[in-house]
Amino acid sequence: MKYILRRNRESKRYKGIIAEPEIRDFFLGKIWSREHAPFSKEKLDCYISRSFFKIKPAISIKPSSPSLFGKRYFCNRCHNDNQREFVEFDCARCGKACVYCRHCINMGRMSCCTELLVWNGPSGIFPKRHVFDWNGSFTVLQQQAAEELRESIGRKRNHLLHAVCGAGKTEILFPAVFHCLRKGWRICIATPRTDVVLELFPRFQKAFPNTIMHAYYGDAPEQKGLAQLVIATTHQLYRFEKAFDVVIVDEADAFPYTYDRSLQKAVWKARKEGAPVAFVTATPTSELLTKVKKERWGCSFIPRRYHGHPLPVPRFEPLWFYDRQIDKGKLPKKLMHWTKRRLGREEPFFIFFPAIPLMEKAIPLFQEIHPDICGVHAKDSERKEKVMKLRNGEIPGLLTTTILERGVTIKNVQVAVVGAESKIFTSGALIQISGRAGRHADFPNGDIVFFHHGISVEMDAARNEILRLNKEGFRT
Ligand SMILES: [Zn+2]
Ligand SMILES: [Zn+2]
Repeated sequence: MKYILRRNRESKRYKGIIAEPEIRDFFLGKIWSREHAPFSKEKLDCYISRSFFKIKPAISIKPSSPSLFGKRYFCNRCHNDNQREFVEFDCARCGKACVYCRHCINMGRMSCCTELLVWNGPSGIFPKRHVFDWNGSFTVLQQQAAEELRESIGRKRNHLLHAVCGAGKTEILFPAVFHCLRKGWRICIATPRTDVVLELFPRFQKAFPNTIMHAYYGDAPEQKGLAQLVIATTHQLYRFEKAFDVVIVDEADAFPYTYDRSLQKAVWKARKEGAPVAFVTATPTSELLTKVKKERWGCSFIPRRYHGHPLPVPRFEPLWFYDRQIDKGKLPKKLMHWTKRRLGREEPFFIFFPAIPLMEKAIPLFQEIHPDICGVHAKDSERKEKVMKLRNGEIPGLLTTTILERGVTIKNVQVAVVGAESKIFTSGALIQISGRAGRHADFPNGDIVFFHHGISVEMDAARNEILRLNKEGFRT
């Protein structure tokens, strides 16, 4: 009865038609270019003429303040307003001198003559009945953090969950997510890394088997239905607007989120007005910590791993002129011994490299020791499979760039960093890398070695922070 009444009202408001669920499910909470929408032109025209959509230009042009010449551009998809990232070009579509946004060009060109569709039709109603299928248990600290997070979200207050690597962060989110689902809210878990999306998605699917969930990342397959729980890379949030009742940002300090203001804006734009945002990380930036204090966010701190053992502490080993040796086709002795020791003991391992070219030169040298050792980096399409092979014991170890610094859990993994003094290895990155070891209760003490050509300030900072967390963890 209620449903029929709603349909009648809807039909009146939108001049005689009712939205097909597929079209509503696709557009609800999104901001999408008209020409790239996966529906026919006729269908979209019909819906547009009946006010199911609002139309925005992709690039807005605002007159500049009188003291400046010219105009100011603003990208309505990625909210970029850096004028240097707007590029003039001769546009074949509108036949004029047009401007596009270089900032979000990877996701398709947005120019002045691109129209963005914003759903103006009836909103979806999300179910409140969900199954929560998880029978793990919490430590006292986890339990406390889970409750604090749920309370903050209930009070629409932002929250920081600061938990060491291996504290069981994902599980801590479960009660809060369940609470939101039962209220019929729409939730987004966003993270800067595709790998983390791929790691989280099956875990949430298992815990909430009846909930419609979508995963969004660069080349994600098309998914049907109206997702109540969305797990997405922060880049994909460019495509959402006022969509979520709660946004949880996992690994909030990962590259490129901390360096890209527009990704940060995307998180705030994707939530509904006044909706809370929660950040989850093992290595919060000082900027985030300041915000938490200043704006009185909720905050939970877990200095201890779920299994109660301290974090393994990295050791420093000089590896002088490692790059020259590798250039000459020689594997530095210490590195070779370390690798052979892992192979002898059948321990899986990660060896982190500061850059792809150095890693690629090193791969054949390692393969002389064992032919199945291979390398992964951000653009490697087989990255997922290789990590899986390491997990299954089909390959003995992986060389990697910082791409695997977080989100990946391998039982009994041993970790080496080559060139730990390199700029790319910030203290945050080194803490995350160290956090790969000793995560499993049966193997809480992995080896972490930072091979270096001179100890950097960041290396020291990372080790000191781990020592501090261990001290803190045993006080609680
Ligand atoms: Zn843009
Ligand atoms: Zn144009």
